[in-house]
Amino acid sequence: MPEVQEILSLAKTLSKEEISLIKKAYAFAEKVHEGQKRYSGEPFFNHIHETAKNLAKYGQSGATIAAGILHDSIEDTVITASEIKEKFGDEILFLIQGVTKLGALKYKGVKRHSESLRKLFVAMSEDIRVLVIKLTDRLHNMQTLQFMPKDKQERIALETMEIYTPLAYRLGMSKLGRELEDLAFKYLDPESYEKILAILEKRVKKEKGELEKISKTIKKALAKEKIRVIKTEYRVKGLKSIDRKIKQKKEEESVHDILALRIIVPTIDDCYKTLGIVHRLWRPMPGRIKDFIAFPKTNGYQSLHTTVFSGGENLFEIQIRTEKMDYEATYGVAAHAVYKGEKKMSWIGNFFGDSYKPSDEEGPPAWVKGLSDYQKGYTNASDFVKDLKRDFFGERIFALTPNGDAIDLPVGSSPIDFAYAIHSDIGDHLSGAKINGKLSSIETELKNGDIVKIITAKKAEPTRKWLSLAKTSTARRDIKRYLGIGKKK
Ligand code: MN
Repeated sequence: MPEVQEILSLAKTLSKEEISLIKKAYAFAEKVHEGQKRYSGEPFFNHIHETAKNLAKYGQSGATIAAGILHDSIEDTVITASEIKEKFGDEILFLIQGVTKLGALKYKGVKRHSESLRKLFVAMSEDIRVLVIKLTDRLHNMQTLQFMPKDKQERIALETMEIYTPLAYRLGMSKLGRELEDLAFKYLDPESYEKILAILEKRVKKEKGELEKISKTIKKALAKEKIRVIKTEYRVKGLKSIDRKIKQKKEEESVHDILALRIIVPTIDDCYKTLGIVHRLWRPMPGRIKDFIAFPKTNGYQSLHTTVFSGGENLFEIQIRTEKMDYEATYGVAAHAVYKGEKKMSWIGNFFGDSYKPSDEEGPPAWVKGLSDYQKGYTNASDFVKDLKRDFFGERIFALTPNGDAIDLPVGSSPIDFAYAIHSDIGDHLSGAKINGKLSSIETELKNGDIVKIITAKKAEPTRKWLSLAKTSTARRDIKRYLGIGKKK
C-alpha cells in the first residue's frame, strides 16, 4: 500500500498547513479512485501517488502537490468542481482544471501540433504550476507505457517527444526533459535506442577509470588551493541526445561528452579558479571552452564547460558550477514555481548576477534579464509570482510557423520580426503575411499563439520604415545591413 508519508519525506520543508493539506487531498483521492484500475492491472491510485512523488522531488509547494494528488479526480470520477472548491478552495480547483484542460492535448500531425502548442502556452501563462503538474503526470504515464495498447504507445510517445520534451527543456527542467525524451525515444525508435545504449555502455566502461583518476587529481589540486569541493559526479549524456549528436557529427568517436565530470564548488569565483587549475593540469581543446556563467543559455542554464586532453587516449568534458546553478540546471522553472511566504527566490538575482550586462546582440533575451532586476524590491511573495508570470510569459509571445515551430518574440513584434527570426533571406524578401490563415499587413502586431505564414517575393526589399517598426535586434541589424546603414563609405 502506498503511503502519504513517502511523499512528505521527499518534499522539501513544508509548513504544518501544507502537510495537512496534502494529507487531506491524499485521503480524499484514495477514496474517490477506489476500485479503479490502470491498464497494468494495478490500482489507479498508484498513478496519483507516483505523480505526487515526482512533484515532491521537484521541490513543489503543498498546494501544487495537493493539486497533483487531485489532478484526475474531476475527470475520472463522479466528483464535481464545486465539491473540490468547497473542500480545497479556489486555488487548488484552478490548478486541477488547468491540468484537465491540457488533458485533451494530442499530437496529431503538424497541423494540430500548433494548436496543441497554443493551448499549452495559454495554460502556461495562466499558471506555470499547471504545466509542472502536467509534466510530472506525463512522466509517470511514460514510465508505465509498456502496459498501454500498442497503437496508443506510439501516439503518446510522439506527443511526449514533440510537445512535452521541448517544453521541459525550454523551461530549463533538464532532468525531467531528459527522462521524458529517453522514454519516448525507446518507443519511437527501439532499434536506435538499443544501439545507442550499447555505445553508451561501451564508452562508460572504457572511460570511467580514466575519469576517476582525473577527478582525484583535480580534488587534490583544489585542496591545495583551498577551494572546497561540494561534490563531483559523472554526468552521463541522455540517449536521445547522444543519438542526435552522433547523427550530426557522423561518427561516434568525435562525440566527447558522453561521459563528463561535473565539479560543484561554493562560489562563482571558485568556478573560474577551478577552470584555471583544470587548464593548468591538462591542455584544453580549442573552441570547446564555454562560459555559460557570463553568458547563460536562454533557458537560464549556467556552468563552465571545457574539454581537455587528459594525456590518455580520451578527451573529457569537465563542467564546473555552483550548487545553486546545479539545482537550477536540474529543476529550471519548477524552482520558480516554488513559492511560499518566505523570501526564497533570491537565487534569481544570484543566478543572473548583478554585474552581468548583456550587450545588444548577445547574451540572454531581455525578458530573462528582467527576472534578475525585478525581484530586487520584493518583500511579498504573491506580488513576485504575479510579476514572474507577466515577465516570464507576458512580455514575450510565441508565434508559430505553419509547421508548428515556435518563434519566441518580444511583445509588439510584427511579421517583419518574425520573418527575420526565421532567416535574413526571408526577411529581405518579405512581401506579405498570412496570420491564422488571413492575409494581413506586415505591420500587424502579432499575438501569442498566432500562426504566421510569410509570403516572399523576389523583388520585395526592406525599407527605412521597417527599421522603425522592427522590435528585435536581429531584424534591425539585418535591415541596416541591407540598406547599407552604418557602413563606412
Ligand atoms: Mn494523470
